[in-house]
Amino acid sequence: MRALIVGAGIAGLATALRLHQAGWQCLIAERAPQRRGGGYGVTFGGIGYDGAQNMGILPALRNRAFTTTELAYRRPDGTRRFALTGPTIAATLGKKAFNILRGDIEAVLYDAVEQTAEIRFATTVTAIEQEPDGVEATLSDGSVEHADLLIGADGLHSATRALVFGPEERYRRDLGHRVAVYMMRRPPADLAPGTTGSISSGGRTFAMVSVGDGRAAAFFGYRSDLAPGTSPEELHDVYGDMGWLVPLALEELKSAESVYFDTISQMVVDRWSRGRVVLVGDAAWCVTLFAGYGSSLAVGGADRLGSALQTHPGDIPAALAAWEADLRPEAERKQKLGRRVKGVYAPRNPLLLELTQLPLRLASCKPVRRLIERNLQIEQ
Ligand SMILES: Cc1cc2nc3c(=O)[nH]c(=O)nc-3n(C[C@H](O)[C@H](O)[C@H](O)COP(=O)(O)OP(=O)(O)OC[C@H]3O[C@@H](n4cnc5c(N)ncnc54)[C@H](O)[C@@H]3O)c2cc1C
Repeated sequence: MRALIVGAGIAGLATALRLHQAGWQCLIAERAPQRRGGGYGVTFGGIGYDGAQNMGILPALRNRAFTTTELAYRRPDGTRRFALTGPTIAATLGKKAFNILRGDIEAVLYDAVEQTAEIRFATTVTAIEQEPDGVEATLSDGSVEHADLLIGADGLHSATRALVFGPEERYRRDLGHRVAVYMMRRPPADLAPGTTGSISSGGRTFAMVSVGDGRAAAFFGYRSDLAPGTSPEELHDVYGDMGWLVPLALEELKSAESVYFDTISQMVVDRWSRGRVVLVGDAAWCVTLFAGYGSSLAVGGADRLGSALQTHPGDIPAALAAWEADLRPEAERKQKLGRRVKGVYAPRNPLLLELTQLPLRLASCKPVRRLIERNLQIEQ
C-alpha cells in the first residue's frame, strides 16, 4: 500500500512512521525548502505519550525533554509577583507527560522516518483527483503521484483541505487572539537555566521559556483587536511599554531565524475524510495552544490511524471511519477545553486577571504546594 503525505510536521512525520510500521510505503511532500526545527516548548502527554510508546520513539523523546524548575509570574516592569516551584509544576504535569521543544519532536520523528520514506522538500500538492481505488495527485514539481491514501498533514492552513474539503473559512473558528513565537539566538542572561518567566497585562501575555540545552524561546500571545495582524512587527506597538526581557526579545525579532506568527484558531471539520483523502493533525482538528495538546493529538492520532489500517486490511473506508469514531471524542473534548481557556486567557481587566491567577498564586504558597505535590503524585 502506498500513501502520499502532504506536510512533514509532527502529524505528517508521525503518520509516515506509523504507516511504515504497518507495512506501507510513504512519500512526503513538504512545502518548506528544508527541515523546519525550532519552535516553542510544548507539553507532550496523553494519547501522544501512549502513541510514542507504541511506535518506539518514547525514549528518544524523553531524552530531549526539558524540566522547568521555576515558573515566575511577573509584573509588566519585570518585578516578581509569585512563582511555582519545580516539584509543583512536575506534579501538575503528571508522570506520563513532559515538556519538550516542538522542533525536537519533529527531529526525533525525522530521524526515525528519513531512511524509510521519501521526503520531497519545496514541494506541495496542486491538484487531487479521487479514483475508484485510489487517489491521483499532481505535485508542484510537475510529477503525478498515485496512492491508495492521501493524507493531508499540512497544518492550520492546509492546501489539501482547501482542494478536497472546501475553503478554510468554512471550518476555521478564530479564538480572538494572536500568537508569535521564536527561538532566541542565545539565552538571556536574566533567565536562569530551566526557568520560565511570564508577564500578563492588558490583554497580553509574554513569556521567556528556557527549553533545555541552553536554548530559550520568546512567546507573545495577545488579543487580536490590539493590532491589525499584518506582520509580527506589530509586537513593537503591542508590547512596547513592557520591561524585563521584552525589549531584548523585540530586538531579536528582526534577526530571528523563523517566527511563528498566526491567529489562534481551531479547525472544526465535520468529517476528517472524503473517500481516499484524510486529514490529520492541525489540518483536521486544530485544538490550539489554549488546549496545550496539539502535538500529543498529532502523534496519538497517527498511531491510531496506523492501527485502524492494520485492523481493516484492504478496506480503507472502514479503517478511516473506525479511526475517526475512536479519535473524534478526544479531539472535541480538547477543542471544548481550548474554547473555555480562551475566556480566561490574558484578560484586559486587572481584577479578572487577579481572579484567574488566584489558583496559581495559591499553588505557590507552601501548604497548598505540599498538598498538590502529595495528592497529584498519589493519583498517578
Ligand atoms: C505557541 C504554541 C504552543 C503550543 N503548545 C502545545 C503544547 O503544550 N502541547 C501540545 O501538545 N501542542 C501544543 N501546540 C500545538 C502543536 O504545536 C501543533 O498542534 C502540532 O505541532 C501539530 O502539528 P501538525 O503537523 O498538524 O501541523 P504543523 O506543525 O503546522 O505542520 C504542518 C507541516 O506542513 C507543511 N505545509 C504547510 N502547508 C503545506 C503545503 N501546502 N504543502 C506541503 N506542506 C505544507 C508545513 O511547512 C509544516 O511542516 C502549540 C502550538 C503553538 C503555536
